[in-house]
Amino acid sequence: MRLIIMGPPGAGKGTQAKGVAARYGIPAISTGDIFRANVSEGTPLGLEAKRYMDAGDYVPDSVTNNMVRDRLAEDDAAGGFLLDGYPRTLAQVAELDGMLEASGTALDAVLVLTVDDDELVKRLVLRAQTDGRTDDTEEVIRHRQDVYNEQTAPLIEVYAERGLLVRVDGMGEVTEVAERIATALDGARA
Ligand code: AMP
Repeated sequence: MRLIIMGPPGAGKGTQAKGVAARYGIPAISTGDIFRANVSEGTPLGLEAKRYMDAGDYVPDSVTNNMVRDRLAEDDAAGGFLLDGYPRTLAQVAELDGMLEASGTALDAVLVLTVDDDELVKRLVLRAQTDGRTDDTEEVIRHRQDVYNEQTAPLIEVYAERGLLVRVDGMGEVTEVAERIATALDGARA
């Protein structure tokens, strides 16, 4: 399975990605997690990414695309993967298309988690308290939502036109959402 999981900040992508990846025996590849790991290790990539992340802006496409290209070339991604947080711009969609074409593979589905705006803010404020992410302050959260709406939401239409979109209601308990996802993906594969 080659999957993408999308949704606004706070939709529960990271949480659900782990369950979906385990279910299909594929790696969950989160660009946010890779950036954060680089930030904590103080690598040059981390230093470059941090200033964008702290402001709630996207890391430049060139940096992000190269990082994903390298990650997808690793052995564990040969049989499938779940991308969490990538692609986020139309330019990244084009780049991913090229990577897949070059390896003679294709996406199976693009999962979109939908959650009410009020619930999103609630979840992010809570996450700021529990995880201590430096990009989870209220001001940065708002900015990240704007950036998502401007740059990433348009991708939903692109994948819908390709017949790949699987929309799942992301409201409710983690286990409920996980069940909805499993049902929807099994339906999409059938
Ligand atoms: P996330 O954990 O997915 O919310 O990502 C955290 C931050 O990492 C984002 O707000 C961006 O600054 C950066 N980031 C993650 N994925 C991407 C991407 N595909 N393109 C650009 N920036 C990204």
